[in-house]
Amino acid sequence: MLQQTQVTTVLPYYERWMARFPTLKALAAADEQELLSYWQGLGYYSRCRNLHEAAKRVVESGLPTRSDDWRVLPGIGAYTAAAIASISAGEPVAAVDGNVERVYARFAASQEPKARLSTAARKWSESHMRLSTCEPAQWNQALMELGARICSPRNPDCRACPLANACQGKGDPHRFPAKKPSRTVVEISYTVWVPAREGRWGVRRVPPGGWWAGLWEFPRRAEESALHQEFVGASPRGLGEVRHQVTHHRLTLRAFLVEEALWPNDLDWLDTDELKRRAMPAPQRKIANLALRKVVAANGLEPLT
Ligand code: SF4
Repeated sequence: MLQQTQVTTVLPYYERWMARFPTLKALAAADEQELLSYWQGLGYYSRCRNLHEAAKRVVESGLPTRSDDWRVLPGIGAYTAAAIASISAGEPVAAVDGNVERVYARFAASQEPKARLSTAARKWSESHMRLSTCEPAQWNQALMELGARICSPRNPDCRACPLANACQGKGDPHRFPAKKPSRTVVEISYTVWVPAREGRWGVRRVPPGGWWAGLWEFPRRAEESALHQEFVGASPRGLGEVRHQVTHHRLTLRAFLVEEALWPNDLDWLDTDELKRRAMPAPQRKIANLALRKVVAANGLEPLT
């Protein structure tokens, strides 16, 4: 949950999750749709699917101990594998997150690009770990904490730093690590049609392979003409516009209500309570609320949460 997401955002999700899926067995046995509904709002849904798949494999084959074996599990990269193996089994492998990369880059005055920085930081950390009297778990946690609390991105406190005597970058720490070239923001527009019929809402499952795979959404297309081909005879009415950011993609979703058409037969028609329970991407949930306000607010129905 904490990948790409702040602790304060994660905490309520984590608590709800652990109350519902307190063991690996409970997680492995869970239905994917239910898991996605608990993850709803955190984004980056592949993390949820990977966690589920990893739990199933671990329940079947047992918990790995070595970092190389952890890395085989879906969603577990070099950092997570090293953190788990060093903390739980004492394996002398370096857990290199952004904090450790920054400490290394400043300590060694390294301008290496991001792609090579992680490997260099890992070798540096492991070579010192082996010379130290610390346990690997302590070493890794100390280095990450040093980066988070003392060698921070904006205000490194070199006077309080235990590495200051040997640090080559302390004269001008802000030069390190080398700045990443900024990514160009890509604008993407979609048209979304909200099918509404006799108090029910038409949704589809997002196919595998893209953003939001496995979640449910109102029909969404890059070209409005594609929706007109699918919903013959539709007269869409404007609901509003929703904006959403996914990594460096800025999405604009223009939403319309469709109450009459020759309905395509791949829609799943849900009543409002069912719609509330389905896992939907955040922008689609906002669109659902726009539609609810327009169509059923007069009946006193609550917006979706
Ligand atoms: S001396 Fe300063 S720049 Fe060097 S590692 Fe410590 S806090 Fe970072």
